[in-house]
Amino acid sequence: MQPTVTFASACPSELRANATLPALLDRMLGAWNFKKRFAAKRVAIKMHLGGNMGYSTIHPFLVGRVVKAVKDAGGIPFVTDSPNAVATAAARGYTAETLGCQLLPVAGAADKYIYSRRVNYRSMKTVELAGNIVDADAMIVLSHGKGHGHSGFGGAIKNIAMGCVDRNTRGRIHRLMSAAFEWDASKCSGCLLCKDNCPNSAIAFNDHKISISDHDCKYCMHCELACPKKAITIDQRGFRWFQHGMAATVNEVLKTFDKGRVLHVTALLSITPFCDCWGFTTPSIVPDIGIVASDDIVACETAALDLIKHEKFIEGSLPAPLKRSGSGHLLQQIHGKDPYIQVEECESLKMGSRKYKFVEIR
Ligand code: SF4
Ligand code: SF4
Repeated sequence: MQPTVTFASACPSELRANATLPALLDRMLGAWNFKKRFAAKRVAIKMHLGGNMGYSTIHPFLVGRVVKAVKDAGGIPFVTDSPNAVATAAARGYTAETLGCQLLPVAGAADKYIYSRRVNYRSMKTVELAGNIVDADAMIVLSHGKGHGHSGFGGAIKNIAMGCVDRNTRGRIHRLMSAAFEWDASKCSGCLLCKDNCPNSAIAFNDHKISISDHDCKYCMHCELACPKKAITIDQRGFRWFQHGMAATVNEVLKTFDKGRVLHVTALLSITPFCDCWGFTTPSIVPDIGIVASDDIVACETAALDLIKHEKFIEGSLPAPLKRSGSGHLLQQIHGKDPYIQVEECESLKMGSRKYKFVEIR
């Protein structure tokens, strides 16, 4: 049987408050039987609280509705994110008063409260899971869907893989991708043809040493082809290694919860091309869509991606130097990275199904 994805639309069917998103969200959460899932449980609400001048993370009012739904069901919720994001969350409107529950740094204030798990994937031998996630009885993965330079899309998978671990693990996952770039200093003549031919400004030289940004690189291979000395080698599998590393991490996090104790809720609102971790907000690239929810992470993420239609692209919304090119998903046209690969990798680890039943909440 296919997993269900519920959907609350941002565009109301009639002009009354009860038909708008917060009310639809309440009804949608009601459809997921919070009493059975969360009663008497400590429920981690994992979200990205943003940073610096960003104001496009999930509105505190909507977060408060989720907190209230957990409390009404007899659960004990807390909102959690990285130590820095929690420390500065009040500036962006997230406080115990506005949300209705406490905010906790996911791996403690010093980012050292962790549980280690062995994964043995390429150079990533272990992942260090955040203590406050592992200790929780249940979790709501409350994600803001937006573009992401590293993975095309940042939603539930990214929220868990990067947000439910410590800083060292995040670095380890990223290095899976940077391991794909090789540069032989002994062959390099310093002609800078690679840098000049990179259409994405992903190459820099410091002290005669190359650095390639895995965020900006789109694997076009121009640098490798342009290099007269064959000093650069790029393994295109690097992007998939990175996505698999994220999937393996998500798998370890989700395994810490009993069946039926995790719900994924992804807000497709203020869909910016960049992640909230940039600490600023740029225009939305498509109109607000709504909120999806599922207890199947693969189904939830696939539905979120399916709802971001390239036909809805808002002209003039891309900040320089971004531009659309090529085909595929809108976020692939912007970041050069297929955002569906992360869901494929999660499905390959049997975390869920890319086929789903879509139910719109009225
Ligand atoms: S592969 Fe393309 S985008 Fe990546 S560094 Fe080389 S030229 Fe730039
Ligand atoms: S094109 Fe090749 S030889 Fe020239 S600077 Fe780049 S890596 Fe070095």
